[in-house]
Amino acid sequence: VKNVYFFGGGKADGDGSQKNLLGGKGANLAEMNRIGLPVPAGLTITTEVCTYYYDNAKKYPATLDAEIDANIAKIEKVMGKKFGDLENPLLLSVRSGARESMPGMMDTILNLGINDQVVEALSEKTGNPKFAWDSYRRFLQMYGSVVMGVEAEEGEHHDPYEVILDKAKSNAQVEIDSELSEADLRWVVAEFKQLIKDRSGKDFPEDPREQLMGSVNAVFNSWNNDRAKVYRQKYGIPAEWGTAVNVQAMVFGNTGPESGTGVAFTRDPATGENVFYGEYLIDAQGEDVVAGVRTPKPIANMSKDLPESHKELLEIRKVLEAHFKDVQDIEFTIEEGKLWMLQTRNGKRTGFAAVNIALDMVKEKLITQETAILRIPAEDLSHLLAPIFDAAAEKKATNVGAGLPAGPGAASGQIYFTAEAAVEAAEKGQKVILTRQETSPEDLRGMIAAEGILTTRGGASSHAALVARQMGKVCVCGAHTMDIDYDAKTLTGNGVVLKEGDFLSLNGFVGNVYAGEIESSPSQVIQGLIENKAAAKKSATYTKFVQLMKWADRLRKLDIRTNSDTPDQVKTAVKFGAQGIGLTRTEHMFFEGDRIDAVREMILADSDEGKAKALKKLLPYQKKDFTGIFKALEGRPATIRLLDPPLHEFIGTMTHQQIDELAGKLGVESSFIHSRINALHEENPMLGHRGCRLGIVYPEITKMQATAILEAAVEVKKKGTKVAPEIMVPLVSYAKEFELQKEVIDAAAAEVREKHGLKKNQLRYTVGTMMEIPRACLTADAVAETAEFFSFGTNDLTQTCLGLSRDDSSSFLPAYQEAEVVDTNPFASLDQTGVGQLVETGVAKGRSTNEKLKIGICGEHGGDPESVKFFHRTGLNYVSCSPFRIPVAKLAAAQAVL
Ligand code: PEP
Ligand code: MG
Repeated sequence: VKNVYFFGGGKADGDGSQKNLLGGKGANLAEMNRIGLPVPAGLTITTEVCTYYYDNAKKYPATLDAEIDANIAKIEKVMGKKFGDLENPLLLSVRSGARESMPGMMDTILNLGINDQVVEALSEKTGNPKFAWDSYRRFLQMYGSVVMGVEAEEGEHHDPYEVILDKAKSNAQVEIDSELSEADLRWVVAEFKQLIKDRSGKDFPEDPREQLMGSVNAVFNSWNNDRAKVYRQKYGIPAEWGTAVNVQAMVFGNTGPESGTGVAFTRDPATGENVFYGEYLIDAQGEDVVAGVRTPKPIANMSKDLPESHKELLEIRKVLEAHFKDVQDIEFTIEEGKLWMLQTRNGKRTGFAAVNIALDMVKEKLITQETAILRIPAEDLSHLLAPIFDAAAEKKATNVGAGLPAGPGAASGQIYFTAEAAVEAAEKGQKVILTRQETSPEDLRGMIAAEGILTTRGGASSHAALVARQMGKVCVCGAHTMDIDYDAKTLTGNGVVLKEGDFLSLNGFVGNVYAGEIESSPSQVIQGLIENKAAAKKSATYTKFVQLMKWADRLRKLDIRTNSDTPDQVKTAVKFGAQGIGLTRTEHMFFEGDRIDAVREMILADSDEGKAKALKKLLPYQKKDFTGIFKALEGRPATIRLLDPPLHEFIGTMTHQQIDELAGKLGVESSFIHSRINALHEENPMLGHRGCRLGIVYPEITKMQATAILEAAVEVKKKGTKVAPEIMVPLVSYAKEFELQKEVIDAAAAEVREKHGLKKNQLRYTVGTMMEIPRACLTADAVAETAEFFSFGTNDLTQTCLGLSRDDSSSFLPAYQEAEVVDTNPFASLDQTGVGQLVETGVAKGRSTNEKLKIGICGEHGGDPESVKFFHRTGLNYVSCSPFRIPVAKLAAAQAVL
């Protein structure tokens, strides 16, 4: 096997298609070489070596050393320099590169190959001793912390290297690192070495080859550091993938005013606007830009500072988009006026940008409609639906600062200054704004927990901006006029001092920061689509959203229905494009107004007459509910489910006072109610007397509900609106349960028909069942002999298949995710390997006895993109989800076809 791949001088062993083997960075470095862009030569150690390393107690394949040596010789040849040489030394960078980029999560070492002799050679050769010593101190700083583990210790607030640098600057009376003289830097280097020796007990290795392997080890080890694991968990990246390691000739942005370094996006990754977007620093190395320590300048300024390179970059921007056919996120360095490309990858973007860019690129004929659909992560459509600030409320709010709008959206929350404090507050249910001078990968958990992120330093490609964008978090970064005092825990801006726990609001569309909480209002998409507001309909966001939904509708095979319980919800869902109701939970209506009294009366009655009397009171309420729903649906099908939850859910939580009041209304003793509550109490209600088990024991409840549904249907139809009732029996395990319930429903229908003098074809309805108990799936052939439709209740099916409580598992599921027992919460994204088999079996067996069986799903998974794709593959007819998830489900259903 080939463990090491070379690239450089316009040639490459690998290419852009080999991301699995070479990692994203390695594959694209090879590809950029192939298309003739200026890339410093280098080698890529494959991801397979990473896997080997972990499978073999951190040992490498026997040939690795020789392969590295052979490829370093090639790098030397292309670059005309030699590694470890005392005349014209080659320095190297060592960087991680997994299949999918994990920004800042793993380790990087730059300027490798320097020691006490090489630094002198470098000074001599370049005639720039200041640069040589600056490179040396940078190398020591990175190697010392990353490879030798000398970093800030517990309780140490400041990075020990920065402490030394600060001392050097104050001794020299200068402000910034690049103003330090050669002599200052020599002092810093000596101090760094001492620091490393004191803290690690070891000398820093002078041998370049030893430095190289130390760095390669460190990068492979960083695949399993804590923050990389957290990141993988959040983005579902498997641990088996491993990372590649890229070893590349250094080019230097820190040699003086003709040099520099920068990062850019070929389009704006926050809004998607087609403008070149990025920033750079003169006389600096790459880490300076991303670290957010010095504030970089916007890329447009480069036309003045380095006009030739700027022109070349604009050209490269075009070449890259034409070649990769997607927005590229690039890193570049200019050494003495010569431009070098260090990286390109598909740019991470917000949901807004994803939609804008994909649709623009179709217009520009760069990609097809299908590609555009595949490009937009379905989940990210939710960014477009998230609330924005109410315009009037924002006008009145106290502005305390402004920064770069790095993550669009509106967020209000309480200020916390550390990731830990943010996580703690969020766990208590607070909305949090993580407020930092700058963020680092260490802050990831805090960023996940926060509603919004504010930084006072760093630019649009700082860590905070990058990560926030990807997570879809609201983010304002580089709010320079604001000041954070970590010790006093205060944030100051425009003379206003805010303390930890105070409220702050961020407008991530424009970058404004306000004291206090601001009322929000619906997004432009919601205003246009649901509220029918003319101004919103003119917005680009709305227009593009509507266009995208049209494309998705044309492609998808799955119908999209909604889980809705009220006419209002149904109307909203229909505006989102719902093709019917997949689930109405009738019990939700039982809590409206004072009808709960009648529900309780029905439950508490201990005689048939008592029950019948209470049910009679409920019937008109239910009929009214269903009338509203049928009207709102305008002829679309309505799956209405019979009563499902255990009865004591309606009575078990009553206070003594409520019990006394009810006793008064019903004319019974309070003690009677207490005894009925006791009698109905269950130890394990979720597996107790619920679902169709209620209807089997109390068929009169089923009869009342079926009558209400069909009476409503008759009434609405009489007034000229079509109706399509589908009555659904919950929690069936045995075919016989279903048959018994269907008999009750059919009998109720016969009565309704007779009462209104209707023939069979004048009142049509179907009867089907929820599939949410494993036994029903395993015996679906028998169930389907009488059932006219199935709807998978994947909430209960997950609960019963895994024996995992849907109500209690959130306390320990995070630990399961942490331990990688599960990749995702099975109640959010379907467990396709386990629960999925029950779905597949249910579909196959059901259709084996009933070819025309209509099959859908109405659990929470109906709005989860990966689950929707699974349901498409499994041959379902529709998925049903809550109204606001419909766009996500539509897009996922379209993607499933491609
Ligand atoms: C289900 O179990 O998936 C379902 C849709 O029903 P409920 O959530 O009401 O139990
Ligand atoms: Mg259920």
